[in-house]
Amino acid sequence: MRQILILGGGFAGLMAALNAADENDRHGGNVAITMVSPSPYLTIRPRLYERDPETLRAPLAPTLGPAGIAFVEAVARTIDTEAHVVRVEDARGAATTKNYDRLILATGSQLGALPVPGVTEHAFNIDNYEGAVAFDCHLQKVLESADIAGHDTFVIVGGGMTGIELAAEMRSRIAVHAGEGLAAKSRVILIEQASVVGPEFGKSPRPVIERALKQAGVEIRLSTTVTKVEANAVTLAGGERIAAATTVIATGMRASPSTGQIAGQRDELGRLIVGN
Ligand SMILES: Cc1cc2nc3c(=O)[nH]c(=O)nc-3n(C[C@H](O)[C@H](O)[C@H](O)COP(=O)(O)OP(=O)(O)OC[C@H]3O[C@@H](n4cnc5c(N)ncnc54)[C@H](O)[C@@H]3O)c2cc1C
Repeated sequence: MRQILILGGGFAGLMAALNAADENDRHGGNVAITMVSPSPYLTIRPRLYERDPETLRAPLAPTLGPAGIAFVEAVARTIDTEAHVVRVEDARGAATTKNYDRLILATGSQLGALPVPGVTEHAFNIDNYEGAVAFDCHLQKVLESADIAGHDTFVIVGGGMTGIELAAEMRSRIAVHAGEGLAAKSRVILIEQASVVGPEFGKSPRPVIERALKQAGVEIRLSTTVTKVEANAVTLAGGERIAAATTVIATGMRASPSTGQIAGQRDELGRLIVGN
C-alpha cells in the first residue's frame, strides 16, 4: 500500500488528512494515511486568547477514526526526504520510523524566542494549549491575591494580531475571575516596538483596531521595547519600571523548526517557499 504521512494535528494537518481520505475513498482505497502529532487533540489555536482555554481543544480520534486515518501520538524528530523516512519519538522517548510515499508537513508555527532577561522564567504566552492554560491559572491566582505587587497590571508585549486580541479581551477575562470592579480598575498595557499598532496589517484596519483598544481601556506604548521581565515588574528601554505581576509575550511566530529539515528556500520566518 502507498503511504501518506502527515506531520501535525492542527487545522492544516487535519484538513489534509480528511481530504486525502476522501480522495482515497473515491479512488479505490489503496492508500494508508497516517497522522503524527504529539497531542491527540485539535487545539483551536486562533482562540487561545479567550477565557476558559481548557475548552478550546477537541479529540482527534472521533474524526480520524471513521475516516480510516491512523494516528501516532509522537513528535517527528528527523525527516529524511531522500530515503522517505521520518523518525518519530513518543512522550516516553521511544523512537520508531515511518516510511512514506508522500509527506505532508503541517507542523505549524511557534512563538519566536524573545532574547530578553527574565522572559523564560516569568513571562506567559498564549501560543499553545499548555501556555494558554498556564496563563489562565496564573490570572486566577494573581487576581485573588491583592497583596501581590502589580497584581492588577497586565503587560502584553507585542502589538500584532495575538497581542491586540488578548489586550482587547483582558478586561472581560479579569472580570470573570475577579469581578467588574477590579476589571475596571486594572491597567492593561500593550507594548509595541514599532511606531504603530498592528504594523503588519497596513493602514486601512488601523483606525478600527485603535478604536477597539481604546474602548477596551488598553494603554498603548509605541516605539517601546522591553529590556527585562521580573515576576512583579517589566523594565522598558528608557529605564521605566512598571510594577506588573503579569507579562505575556506575543512578539510573533516562526515556522516550526521541522521546516529546517526540508531542502529548499525559506523566508525570514523560516517558512518553506512552495509551489501550488
Ligand atoms: C492566539 C492566537 C491567535 C491566532 N489567530 C489567528 C487568526 O485569527 N487567523 C489565522 O489565520 N491564524 C491565527 N493564528 C495562527 C493560527 O495558529 C494558525 O492559523 C492555525 O492554527 C494554523 O494551523 P496549522 O495546522 O498550520 O498549525 P498549528 O495549529 O500550529 O498546528 C501544528 C500542529 O503540528 C504539531 N507539531 C508541531 N511540531 C511537530 C512535529 N515535529 N511532529 C509532529 N507534530 C508536530 C503541533 O503539535 C500541532 O498539532 C493565531 C495563533 C494564536 C496563537
